[in-house]
Amino acid sequence: MKKLVFATNNAHKLDEVRKILGESFEILAMEQIGCHDDIAETALTFEGNALIKARYIKEKYGYDCFADDSGLEITALGGEPGVFSARYAGEAHNSEKNMEKVLTQLQGIDNRSARFRTVIALVADGEEHIFEGEIAGRIIDERRGKGGFGYDPIFVPEGSELTFAEMGDEMKNSISHRARAMKKLVEYLLSHR
Ligand code: IMP
Repeated sequence: MKKLVFATNNAHKLDEVRKILGESFEILAMEQIGCHDDIAETALTFEGNALIKARYIKEKYGYDCFADDSGLEITALGGEPGVFSARYAGEAHNSEKNMEKVLTQLQGIDNRSARFRTVIALVADGEEHIFEGEIAGRIIDERRGKGGFGYDPIFVPEGSELTFAEMGDEMKNSISHRARAMKKLVEYLLSHR
């Protein structure tokens, strides 16, 4: 079976991808190839960061690989927090503080439009491919819901009245930026086996 590394430290994401692709590909975690490196995401775009991670694995370990990078882009903040989504309020990766910072910056601003984006970079068979997914919505001015992670309690996707944190995982995963990008990756991989 063809081997593909998924360059993530997120066990939940690995699980999800294995459930979809496990019959057709052997999806390896970084630790399975002996990689314990913390790959610095120094690019200013999601695409740049995803490529940094996928190329790093390919170049250093020789495995075909894919990697993802995601975040929230808020129109009135010029696309922030963007690639800084995880560390918007500091390096501590604190979702509460990140949301607080967003809500403070948006105080008194009517334009609440925002979107989540995911970019996946695939480096395989000597080629590089990019797959993107996004979900548009708006930022509300309070936190609602207990599910999900990150900015989910303040994000209401278009066509819904619920925040991502009020939806069950199943509902969120049927429309999320990550699911949409992943679907494109999977379609590509399954048609190029
Ligand atoms: P990652 O690249 O998927 O690790 O996402 C980077 C950061 O973007 C996360 O730490 C969150 O702050 C934010 N983010 C990405 N996807 C989501 C989501 O589905 N809900 C809420 N926040 C997200």
